[in-house]
Amino acid sequence: MKGLMQELPLNIPMLVRHAARMHPRKSVTTKTADGVRVTCYAELLERARRLAAALRALGVGPDDRVATFCWNHQAHLEAYIAVPCMGSILHTLNIRLFDSDLAYIVEHAGDSVVIVDKSLLPAWQKVAARVACVRQTIVVDDAPGPQPAGTLDYETLLAQAVPLPEFPDVPEDQAAAMCYTSGTTGPPKGVVYSHRSNVLHCYAALMADGIGLCETDVVLPIVPMFHANAWGLPYACLMAGADLVMPGRYMTPDALTGLLAERGVTFAAGVPTIWQAMLPPMTAARDRLGRLRAILCGGAAIPPAVQRAYQRTFGVRITHAWGMTETSPIASISVPLAAHASLELEALDHVLTSQGRVPPGVEVRIVREDGSEAPWDGESFGEIEVRGNWIAASYYKEPAPEKFPDGWLRTGDVATIDADGYIRIVDRTKDVIKSGGEWISSVKLEGLLMGHPDVAEAAVVGIAHPRWDERPLACVVRRKTEAGPSLTGDDLIEHLRPHVARFWLPDDVVFIDEVPKTSVGKFDKKVLRQRFQDYFSQRAAGGEP
Ligand code: AMP
Repeated sequence: MKGLMQELPLNIPMLVRHAARMHPRKSVTTKTADGVRVTCYAELLERARRLAAALRALGVGPDDRVATFCWNHQAHLEAYIAVPCMGSILHTLNIRLFDSDLAYIVEHAGDSVVIVDKSLLPAWQKVAARVACVRQTIVVDDAPGPQPAGTLDYETLLAQAVPLPEFPDVPEDQAAAMCYTSGTTGPPKGVVYSHRSNVLHCYAALMADGIGLCETDVVLPIVPMFHANAWGLPYACLMAGADLVMPGRYMTPDALTGLLAERGVTFAAGVPTIWQAMLPPMTAARDRLGRLRAILCGGAAIPPAVQRAYQRTFGVRITHAWGMTETSPIASISVPLAAHASLELEALDHVLTSQGRVPPGVEVRIVREDGSEAPWDGESFGEIEVRGNWIAASYYKEPAPEKFPDGWLRTGDVATIDADGYIRIVDRTKDVIKSGGEWISSVKLEGLLMGHPDVAEAAVVGIAHPRWDERPLACVVRRKTEAGPSLTGDDLIEHLRPHVARFWLPDDVVFIDEVPKTSVGKFDKKVLRQRFQDYFSQRAAGGEP
C-alpha cells in the first residue's frame, strides 16, 4: 500500500515562498566602500524576480548556465535565488583560479551569461578572451571605474525589468547549480546540484546537531559563495529566516572583525586560515563580540590549537565540519554527545578536533585498499566513502565510474571512525596541497618544473605552514650541465609564474641529489614530506630550515 500524503517538489522556489511569507522583514547587509547597504528579504526576493525577468529577456532559458564571478554580496545572493528558480543553472566560478583553468571550466559548462563584479573585471577579461560561449556580461558596480563597452549594468537591468509575478515551480530533480572541483588529477570536474539535493542539504544543515541555525541568528558567511555553495548557508538562511551579513570584497581580518562587532553577528563560517588570521583582531575586539555564539570551520583540518584558543578566549568552540564540493558540502559535523557531558575540557577538545559525525541522510564507511570495510574502532583506517541524497552520483559530462563504485562516492580522504561515529581524517590518498582552503596540484607544478631544460626531476610537496596550513615546497634535481649548477630557485619561480595562479607558486625551492622512489619507481613524496616537515615553521621562527 502506498502512503496517502501530498507530494510537492522539494525545490528552491518552495524555500523562497517560505522566506517571502514568513521572513519578509529579515535583512541582508552588504559591506560597501563607505558603509553598508541593507535590504530586507521582501525587497531581495522582488529584486530576484526582476533579475529572472531580465535574464529571460536576454534569452536565458531552462537549463542555460548563468555564471557568477563575484564576491559575497546581495547581488550574488539574488543570482542564487533567481537563476535556479527560473529553471536555469547557477554556475559559481572560483575567482582565484588561473585564467586557463577558468576558461576550461566556463567552456566545459557552456556558460552563456556571466555576472561579474566590477572589481574583478581585469581578472574576468583574461578569461573572457579565451572563451566563445559567453554571450552577455552583466557588471555589478562594486568598485569605481568605467563600465566596459558591450557589457550590461546590473542595476540598470533590474530597474528596467518588470519582475516575474512569482517563480514557477521547478521539478525537484532539475539541476539548480553547478560547481567545479579544482582538478588535482586531471581537468576540473563539474558537480551538478539538484533542487532536491539543495533542499535536503538545508534541512540537515539546520538541525540542532547540524549547524543549528535559527531565526534569531545573524550569519556572516566568510566562506566564498563560489566554494561549494558557501556551504549551503545562503539557502539555509532563507529557510531559517536568519539575517545575513555579506563582506563583499572587504575580506581583511580587520574588516571582517568590524562586521562581526558592528552587525552583532551570532554565527560565522570560514576555512581554518581565516580563523587563524582573525584571532588577533578578534581578541582585541572581544568586548564587542558578545553576540557571537557559533563558528563553523571546514575545507581543511582546523589546527587544534586554534580551536582551543577560540574556546578559551571567547567561550565559542569552532564547530569542525567536513565535506567536499561533491557532498553539497556538509557531510559530517563535530558536535558533542550527552556522553561527553562529564569530560574534562582537554578530553572534549580532543573529541571535537575530529571531523565529526554524519547527519541523518549521509551514510559513511571506510574502505581499505583491499576493498574490505574497516571497523569503527578509532584506529583502523580506510578511504572515506559516502552516499546520500546530497552526494554527487556522477560528474558533468565525465561520469568517472571509478569514483562512484556501487553508488558510493570515493572521497580520496583517508580516515578512522570511532565507535561513536566520529570521523578523523589521517591523510589524503592524493598528494594535493591545501593552501588557505584552496587546492594546489603538485602534479601540475611538477610537470611545469620538469619542462624547464635545466631540471632533471622535480617533486612538489605540501609542507605545514604557520599561516596557510600548507604551502608548496619544490624539491628539484638539477640537470647536470657543463656550465655547472647555475639554475636558481628564483629562475624556477619565474619559469612557473606565467602558467599558474600566484598562490600556486612554491614558497621555496630546495635542490636535492635525487627524488626518492617507491618500489615501483614512483616518486616517494612521503619521504620528502618527512624530511622537510619543519621547513616553513623553522623559517618563520627565524631559524635555518
Ligand atoms: P573541496 O571540494 O575543495 O571543498 O575540498 C574537499 C576536500 O577538502 C576534502 O576531500 C578533504 O580532503 C578536505 N577537507 C574538507 N573539510 C575538511 C576538514 N574538516 N578536515 C580535513 N580536510 C578537510
